[in-house]
Amino acid sequence: MTATPDVRSRDSDDNVNIPLEQVKIVFAAVPLSLAANLINSIILSAALWALVAHAFILTWFFAISAASVFRWYTYRRFTATTEASRADPSWRSLAAIGTLLTGALWGSTALFLFPADSMVHQVFLAFVIAGISAAAVTTLSAVHGLAAGFLLLTLGPMMWRFLAADHVLGHTMALMTALFALMIVVSSGRLHRTILESLQIRNERRQAERTIRHQALFDQLTGLPNRRLLLDRLHQEMARSIRHGHMGAVLFLDLDHFKTINDSLGHRIGDMLLQSVAARLLRRLRGEDTVARIGGDEFVALIPEIGASDGNAVANSRQLAIELLELFRHPFKIEGHTLHLSASIGVTLFPMGQQDPEDLLQQADVAMYSAKESGRDTTQLFLPSMQAAVDERLKIERGLRHALAHGGLELYYQPQVADDGKLIGAEALARWKHPEHGLVSPAQFIRIAEETGLIYQLGDWVLRRACDDLARLSADADLHISVNISPKQFREAGFVERVRVILADTGAPPERLTLEITESVVIDNIEQTVERMHTLKALGISFSVDDFGTGHSSLAYLKRLPLDTLKIDQSFVRDIGTDPNDAVIVDTIIVMARHLGMEVIAEGVETDEALRFLLSKGCRQFQGYLFGKPEPIEALRSRLHTPQAVEASG
Ligand code: C2E
Ligand code: MG
Ligand code: MG
Repeated sequence: MTATPDVRSRDSDDNVNIPLEQVKIVFAAVPLSLAANLINSIILSAALWALVAHAFILTWFFAISAASVFRWYTYRRFTATTEASRADPSWRSLAAIGTLLTGALWGSTALFLFPADSMVHQVFLAFVIAGISAAAVTTLSAVHGLAAGFLLLTLGPMMWRFLAADHVLGHTMALMTALFALMIVVSSGRLHRTILESLQIRNERRQAERTIRHQALFDQLTGLPNRRLLLDRLHQEMARSIRHGHMGAVLFLDLDHFKTINDSLGHRIGDMLLQSVAARLLRRLRGEDTVARIGGDEFVALIPEIGASDGNAVANSRQLAIELLELFRHPFKIEGHTLHLSASIGVTLFPMGQQDPEDLLQQADVAMYSAKESGRDTTQLFLPSMQAAVDERLKIERGLRHALAHGGLELYYQPQVADDGKLIGAEALARWKHPEHGLVSPAQFIRIAEETGLIYQLGDWVLRRACDDLARLSADADLHISVNISPKQFREAGFVERVRVILADTGAPPERLTLEITESVVIDNIEQTVERMHTLKALGISFSVDDFGTGHSSLAYLKRLPLDTLKIDQSFVRDIGTDPNDAVIVDTIIVMARHLGMEVIAEGVETDEALRFLLSKGCRQFQGYLFGKPEPIEALRSRLHTPQAVEASG
């Protein structure tokens, strides 16, 4: 695919139609104008009755009444018709004809009803006509040229009449009428501009309102509905499906390894790729389906009607999911890059006893995770047995929230020793004192804490507690404390400041504090990571890369970061004696760290055999069950003066 069609253009265009509004202003004035016409024509006819031939007066009166009937009729039809047909240009012509006809009839009084013998009545007539034209101009100014035409027709004959008179007063009257007309034309021009401006302002306000509405409900990058709008539509469709007895489907689509593309080619390419994915999905699905983007690389398709019975809904949704995966078979071509991409899709159907749209999304999400776990690039239907996992997750989230609020967490320390047997430090590891299950390992709750955002509070608690303990320990011994920092926590805007505050509050010596970050922190947003690490290092804090060897960090990245230690992941250490590959990896990491001027610590050291191997390769620091399991701070303190038996084991 080369071009990305504009997927934003699904929003309807409800701008103010300015020409239509102009015509509306003219029509709106019709009732008042007709009333004024009637009163003025009666008064004028009565005033001239004794001076002008009755036939003229009656004919004129009849003509102006007929014109009024015509205008009343068009006015009624205009107000009764729909907004769409009012936009027809013929309305503008009808309005203009009615107005100009009236103007011409008023102007004709100077020709046919002119009281040649009475100066007083001439002035009276001029006064009436001037009044009529001044009043009409206020509304007629809305339409360009209409006011000027009206003025010309009403005042023109009068001017001519006075000019043709053979006395000075007549010429003066002609001049005054001309001046009056000029003044009104100028103010009519100004009024016209003001009316147009106010219509344009109304348009801009509508535009702004539309933008705000759009931003609240649509994803800015792809123009697709966002999570909020999706939940709203889900809500409606769930109700509709129950009422009409059909089944709908929700397909939760997550791109596989999208992060790698984002990290290696940059966010701009990543963004363009997401737009292309959105466009492909939109092209495949139908108008009544909703495609939403609800997170970084997460899309959701809502299919309101997928089948009438369970059986064919399952078959149809599976077929559709496979077809959506097929959309990824052709590579994406973005700015010269050919990108191969796949996706994992979780599918769930409704109505199937779900309580609300959130439940439904969660089910589809769980099914999607299951698709990821079975190797990606595949689809998975939500099964009721998966509900147990959903419930379990929810239980953990609630429990953890409670534990954080009520002191239900504990911090354990696992010793780290040097090759001479000396205790050099400890890693702080969170434990959850569960009322039923006893001590729960972080392996069971860290991921959920990250997904739910509880990690910020949890991370803060761990860091504060560890610094508290460190401040107290440092009076007795020269120990380093390592604290695990989750990627989300590290990237949070106020992280550096919070570390500073915690150090100040607890009085912990920063040069004895190590922050353990993971490779994903390193490769995500390298510039920000480097800057943050330098700021923290300036405080005296050290850094180590946890689980080293399991991520994707490159040498180029490692060189740029102010790192102190690489922690060899326990998965390599575990099989060091039996798996030659692991032995080579461990050896390589140790050599690499030496060249980069970093320390190495091996974690998960459980056996003498592993220890011997590590020692033979030049590793000087260890952590693992061989030296001690994670334990409460008191146990760690009691180790302070008991040397560990590294040499004896080696
Ligand atoms: P990690 O940072 O790699 O910590 C080492 C894990 O390996 C710990 O598991 C530790 O108990 C275990 N371990 C240490 N030596 C051995 C050994 O010889 N054999 C075996 N089989 N395991 C060993 P734990 O405490 O369950 O923590 C699991 C992970 O949870 C940690 O891995 C870390 O990534 C995360 N974690 C723990 N506490 C925190 C925390 O406070 N904040 C954050 N963000 N993550 C934490
Ligand atoms: Mg760690
Ligand atoms: Mg580790």
